[in-house]
Parts: sequence; C-alpha cells; structure tokens
Amino acid sequence: MELFDVYSLFNVTPVRAQGCTVWDDKGQEYLDLYGGHAVISVGHCHPHYVAALTEQLNKIGFYSNSVRNPLQEELARRIGEVSGYDDYTLFLDNSGAESNENAAKLASFHTGKDRIIAFRRSFHGRTSGAVALTDNPAIVSPFNAHHRVTFVDLNDGDAVADELAKGGVAAVIVEGIQGCGGIHLPSSGFLQALRRLCDRYGAVLILDEVQSGYGRTGKFFAHQWSGIRPDIITMGKGIANGFPCGGILVSPMFQARKGMLGTTFGGNYLACAGALAVLDIIEREGLMANALAVGDYIREALPKSGRIKEVRGKGLMLGIEFDERVAPLREALLYDKHIFTGVAGQNMIRLLAPLCLTRAEADRFLEAFNEVLAA
Ligand code: PMP
Repeated sequence: MELFDVYSLFNVTPVRAQGCTVWDDKGQEYLDLYGGHAVISVGHCHPHYVAALTEQLNKIGFYSNSVRNPLQEELARRIGEVSGYDDYTLFLDNSGAESNENAAKLASFHTGKDRIIAFRRSFHGRTSGAVALTDNPAIVSPFNAHHRVTFVDLNDGDAVADELAKGGVAAVIVEGIQGCGGIHLPSSGFLQALRRLCDRYGAVLILDEVQSGYGRTGKFFAHQWSGIRPDIITMGKGIANGFPCGGILVSPMFQARKGMLGTTFGGNYLACAGALAVLDIIEREGLMANALAVGDYIREALPKSGRIKEVRGKGLMLGIEFDERVAPLREALLYDKHIFTGVAGQNMIRLLAPLCLTRAEADRFLEAFNEVLAA
C-alpha cells in the first residue's frame, strides 16, 4: 500500500534531532526555525521531556476517560498557574482543529445560537467544522457548513458590531495572531472592542491560541498583551512538544454537563506527561522571555530595505514579507544553508522556531538569510 498523497514534500528525511538541530538520513545537520510548524516548543528531544514520557510509558500509557486521571488534574492546575487562568476549567483533546470545534460547540450549547463570526485570512483547522471557520478557498469543501459563518476583516470593529446586531451569533473566533494567513496581528484596541461587543450581544469570545500560544510571543497567550480575557481559549501544537495534544480553557460562566464533550485519546497519560514536562522546561529555562528576546533580536537585525517589504509578528512568531514568491528563498535556505523555515502564502517566510532558540543560532540564520538574499 502507498500513502494517500496529499503533502508536498521537501527532499529531506529527518531521522534525529536535538534542541534546534535536526539531522537527516545522510547525517547532514539542519538548523530548525520552523519547529515542525510551531509544534516543537521546548526543543527536540529535551532530556527532561524524553525522561518524563519514557517513565510514564513504563507506568501506564493509556486508559479511557471513564476513570480519574490525576495527570489531567495536575496539568489543569499547572496551566492555570502559568497562564493566570486558574479560575477556568480545562478540557483536553487531540489537536487544534478539535479544540476549535469543541469551542464552537460549547458556544452554541451555551447561547442556543448557531452563527459564528470569523475573520478574513483565518485558519482554524481542516476538519469539517474547523475548516468552515477558515478563510482559505483552497481547503474548504462543499460539505462544510459555511452558511452559518460570516467572515469580516480583522481589526474592523464596526463590521463585527454590524454582524452581531443582525442576531443569532453564538461566537466570535479570532487567532491570537493570524498564522497561516500571513502573520496579521489583531490590535489591542480591536481585541478590547471584541470583548465589549461580545458582552453586549451575549456572544462567546473564542481566542484560537493554537499557533500563537504557549509562550511563543513572550506571554503565555498572545492575547494577554491586550489585557482581555476571552471566554474560551483553544490550544494545540506546542502543548506537548510533538506528542499529539490539544485542549480548551473554559471560563467559569460555562456549565459542564455529562456527555457534552468527549474524546477517546484526549488527555491520555502520555500526552499529559509530555505537557507537564513542557511546562517544567518553559518555567525552569525562562523560555517565554527567551522567545521574546531572541524574536526581537531577529526582527531588529533583519534588513529594513531592499527586497523585504515588511516584518511582522511577536516573539518567535515572525513573518518576513516580500513582493515576490518566496519558494526559491526557502529552498535556498533549506538546501544550500541547511535551515528549515516555514512560509505563509506565496510571499512570506514564516519563522516558528523552538522557544529555546539561542542568539548564536539566530545569528547563523541571519547570516545565511543575508547571503541568500544577496545571491
Ligand atoms: N488553529 C490555528 C491558529 C492553527 O495554526 C492550526 C494549525 N496550523 C490549527 C488551528 C489546526 O491545528 P491542527 O492541525 O492540530 O488541527
């Protein structure tokens, strides 16, 4: 049997990794400024993470959510502590898309309504419900319930107010920073306006922090730079450094009911052990502060003129925008300089490095990037 062929692949086969370094099957070393798409938060194969998962696997790897799992309770306590959302509750699932679908489902249970306001250039996942909230014509399918979703421009508070006034809106969903749509930041004033508008119209405010959260911007969640508190926060990607794990933080205004949400694998022992180890490492090694400092360092050092049109982002979530297609640049970085980077659309190089990226590693990237630009 062959694989269902849906991914465009690079001609590199990683077989081993450590920190921000990846080695391929030929022994070639690569610097990782992509983090497997913002998933490797604390670095590849961190010894504390590897030990925690190995130890847990030797104790118990899986049982169902029909029994008490003390690791889930410990994880809820720890996420509450580090994020400042200790009065919220945690539901664990398996991915970003699932988290967003669970958030939308809770919002519609809570309000009895079914419309959702999302934003142009949004990305919330690829499963049917999540892709309906995603503004990318390349990945929607006829099966999706698009008729219940209204897309408006990011940072256009008046447009959101107009849509809310039409009625029937269960939720407004917005990314902490739009990632796949090209590193677009909601302004603080806009998030504050969303908070006020959702309160006025009784709509649930959902912050998708799947890509922008978990310390990547220097605060635990990107929206915390604006001082607002959403009603539901969705998480995924970096939460367990590559062991599949997602989750939602739910404000105390929601009433849980048995059977309301559920999953087979979500919150399993291995995911929780991985997620707890990630929090240990983020805290012990000051990785949020590091992400902000090294991210700022890269931003400041990038050339401000020439082919680069704009640099946007915060911490280690950076987009370098060009007026030209960036595929050749990304390929030159990968094949000539041995550096992994991401892209967003056709014109943007997107950096989503592990939060432990050092200044020396940033310098290696900057030097290589300048050489590739000059070539
Ligand atoms: N939300 C955001 C903001 C994302 O960036 C992504 C993944 N790129 C998702 C949701 C979907 O996450 P997953 O692929 O784990 O379903």
